[in-house]
Amino acid sequence: MLLFMDDSTELMHHATAKSSPIINKFSETHLKACNVIQTTSLRIALGVPIWTPNVILLKLAGQEILSGKIKRLAIQFFIKQIATQPFSALFHTPDKIYSQLVEKDAESLRITFRTLNCIPDHVISLPIFPHSNPNVCEIFLKDFYFQNKELPSSIISSDFIECIQRFFPNHFIIATDGSKSHCHTSIAGFSCLQQFCYRIHPLNSLLTAEVLAICQALDELILPETDILILSDSFSALSSLKNISFHSPKVIQRLAAKIHIRKNLNQKIALLWVPGHSGVSWNEKADSIAKQVSDFSPYIDWIASEDILSHLKKQSFQITEENYHKSKYQSLIGNIPDILTISKWTGNRVQDRLIARIISKTITTPGLLSRFNLHPDPLCRVCNEINDISHILLRCQKYASVRVTLWRKLNIVSANITYDVLLSHVLVNKNHLLIFVQTLKYFDID
Ligand SMILES: [Zn+2]
Repeated sequence: MLLFMDDSTELMHHATAKSSPIINKFSETHLKACNVIQTTSLRIALGVPIWTPNVILLKLAGQEILSGKIKRLAIQFFIKQIATQPFSALFHTPDKIYSQLVEKDAESLRITFRTLNCIPDHVISLPIFPHSNPNVCEIFLKDFYFQNKELPSSIISSDFIECIQRFFPNHFIIATDGSKSHCHTSIAGFSCLQQFCYRIHPLNSLLTAEVLAICQALDELILPETDILILSDSFSALSSLKNISFHSPKVIQRLAAKIHIRKNLNQKIALLWVPGHSGVSWNEKADSIAKQVSDFSPYIDWIASEDILSHLKKQSFQITEENYHKSKYQSLIGNIPDILTISKWTGNRVQDRLIARIISKTITTPGLLSRFNLHPDPLCRVCNEINDISHILLRCQKYASVRVTLWRKLNIVSANITYDVLLSHVLVNKNHLLIFVQTLKYFDID
C-alpha cells in the first residue's frame, strides 16, 4: 500500500487534528525502514533475487525512493493548501502561513520555496469568489470555418478577417500569447492602442503562461463600456476555461473570476481560438512581442501550484535516474527501460520476471551461485570461462548455433558484442523482445 500512496488524506488528518509535524513525523530510522519495505516489495514483485542492488531495482521499477516520495507528498500537501488559501483549514492569511506548522515542517517548506526561487505569496491561489459556471463568457473554439488547423494558412487568415467583419464588427480586439524558450517564459498582449510583454517564473507551463496572458490583458488592455474580443492560439487554455470545474487549475479559476467581474459591470467578453502560426496577423504580432522578451523585461511573480507540483515530482523521479547513471551498473548493463514499458509488450508475468532478471543480470547461473558459495565450480566446462549470463548469451560455444539464428532475427551484425548492446537490440520493440524470450529456452534459461 505504501508503494502506491498518492493521497494526502492521511497527511491532512495529522496536520489539522493534532498540528503534529508531517514530514518529520517519521524519524530518519523510520524513513529508512520505509525504504526497506519498498525495496523488499519490489524484489518480490519483479521476481529478482534478494541481493539485486537497490539502484537497479528502482530504475527497473520506475519508482522514486519511498522516503523521498513521503517528503514530497508532504510538501505537496502544504503547497496545495497555499493555493486553496481562502478555503484552507491550515492557512487563513498569507502572513500567517507558517504559524500553525511545526518548525521542522515550516523549515522544509521554506527550503523548498527558496530552492524554487519564489515565495508562497506568489503562488496563484483560488479567487475569493470562486466561479465554476461553465457559461462565464462566450468561448469560440470550433464555431467558425477558419478554426481548423488542417486548412492552408492563406485560407485561415482570409476567412478569419471575414469572420471578424461579419460577427464582431464593433468589438475591441486584443491578441494574447504565452511563450516558453530555454531561457525565458513570457506573456504578451496587444490591442490597437497598447501592448505589454512580461517575463514570468520559468517553472510555469505554457498553459499557465497562455492563461496569465489573458488575465493580464483583462487588467491592462481593456477599454471600459466596450465589447471585447480576446484572441488566443491556445486551444487547451480556452477549452479548459469552457469546461471549468472545482478541479480546474487555479489560474483558470482566476481568469473566470476576472471575466465574471467584467460581466457584472455589463461588459461583454468573448474569447476566440485562432490556429497558431497560420498567418493571422494579430496572432503573429502577439507571438513576436512575447518572443522579444529579455532579461530586462519587467517580471511578474505569479507561479502556478500545479506546475510546482509536477516539477517536484519530475525532480524526485530524476533522482532514481541519476543514481543509476552514477552507479557502476550503467556501464555494465546500459540504459534500461522500466518494467512498465516492458510489460506492455509481454503481457505475461512469467516473461516479465524473466526479462527483469535478464536486465538486472540476476539469472541464476553456476557463475552467479558460486559467488555466494552455492555452487562448487564457477567455470563453464566447455569454454573454461566464468559461467555467468553474459558468457551463456554472448560467448559460450555450446550455444554457438542458437546464437547465430538469434543474432540474425535481432539484426545483430557484429559477432563480438557486449551485454549492453544485446539488450538494446532485444528491447527495441515488442517483436524482438518476444523472439528473444522464446529463444531463451535453447540457452537452457527459463
Ligand atoms: Zn561456455
